[in-house]
Amino acid sequence: MDFEERIVAPDMTSMDSDIEVSLRPKVLTDYIGQEKAKENLEVYIKAALSRGEALDHVLLYGPPGLGKTTLAGIIANEMNVNLRVTSGPAIEKQGDLAALLTNLNEGDVLFIDEIHRLNRSVEEVLYPAMEDNALDIIIGKGPSARSIRLDLPKFTLVGATTRAGQLSAPLRDRFGVILRLELYTPEELAQIVTRSAGILGIDIEKYGALEIASRSRGTPRIANRLLKRARDFAQIRGNGIIDEDSADYALEKMEIDHLGLDNIDRILLETMIKSYNGGPVGLETIAAAIGEEAVTIEDVYEPYLMQIGFLGRTPRGRVATPAAYEHLGLAKPNTQITF
Ligand code: ADP
Repeated sequence: MDFEERIVAPDMTSMDSDIEVSLRPKVLTDYIGQEKAKENLEVYIKAALSRGEALDHVLLYGPPGLGKTTLAGIIANEMNVNLRVTSGPAIEKQGDLAALLTNLNEGDVLFIDEIHRLNRSVEEVLYPAMEDNALDIIIGKGPSARSIRLDLPKFTLVGATTRAGQLSAPLRDRFGVILRLELYTPEELAQIVTRSAGILGIDIEKYGALEIASRSRGTPRIANRLLKRARDFAQIRGNGIIDEDSADYALEKMEIDHLGLDNIDRILLETMIKSYNGGPVGLETIAAAIGEEAVTIEDVYEPYLMQIGFLGRTPRGRVATPAAYEHLGLAKPNTQITF
C-alpha cells in the first residue's frame, strides 16, 4: 500500500508544499486550538522577552500535521529572532550540528524536526550546547587528542517528535518546556479551514467547512488538503462554492467516509475483525497482515482510530471496539462464553 498517495496521510507530501507555507499562522493569536499549550507558551514567551533572555528549550510532541513546525515559526516570530529549520535524519555527523550551532545569532530558534531520529554521537554535542551554550571540540587523534570548548550564542532549541517515548532521557531532561499537541476538534478544524479558504480566496459556507473539518482526522494538514480538493470538485461540478453538499460529494469521491476514514483504515479494522476476531492482536501482526510498517500504524492510523473510539490498546494487543464493528456494518462477536 502506498502511503504517499493517501489523501488523508498526515505527513507532508508534495500535495502540500505549494501552499503550506502561505497557510501557516505567523502569530500565536492566529494559531487556532491547542489552548493549553498556547496559554503556557504565551506566558513563557512574555516572561523571556521581559527579561531579555532567550526562551527555554521547547519540546513539542504529537502526531504529524498538528502544527509543530508552525508553532516553532511562531515562537521565533514572537521572540523577534531568526528560525533555522533542520531535522534529525539530516544531521548525520557531529560536524553538521557544530556548523549549525556556530552559525546561530543570539536568541535564535533552532528547530529540529523528528528529533528522536538524531544519532547518539550527534546528540552528545547537543547536551553541552543546550545546557551551557558551549561546543566541545576534540582536536587531534589518539593520546594527543584534546578537547577545547567554544562559547555559543544563547539560543532556543525547539525539538519536534511524534514519539516522545523514543527520546533518550538525557535529551528529554534538557528541555525546560514540554508541550503535547492534541488532535483538533471539528469546530477548531472548521475555523482553520475557513481561515485557509480566506487566504486562498475560496468561497466556502459554514456547513461546507464543518463537513471537511469533521472528516479530517483531527489534523489541520489534512483539513487544508481536503479543502483544496473540495474546491476542485466545487469548481468543476458545482458553482464554485463549497457548501455542505458539494463538500460531501467531493469527500465521497475521494472515498473518505463520514468519520474521515479511508480505505486503509477500513482494511486495518476489517483485518482485525475478520482475521483476528477483533483482537487482541499484536501490532506487528496487523502490520504484516496489511503490508504497512508498524511505526506508521502506531503514529498515523492509531491516534485517530483511538480518538474516535474504534480501537483500543491493551497489554495483549490491539482490539477493535463494538463501535468499529457497527461502523463497518459487521456483526459483533458473541461475547457470552458458552460451554
Ligand atoms: P507538523 O510540523 O506538526 O507536522 P505543521 O506545522 O507543518 O505540522 O502544520 C501543517 C499545516 O497545518 C500548516 O501548513 C498549517 O497551515 C496548518 N496548521 C497547523 N496547526 C494550525 C493551527 N493551530 N492553526 C491554523 N493552521 C494550522
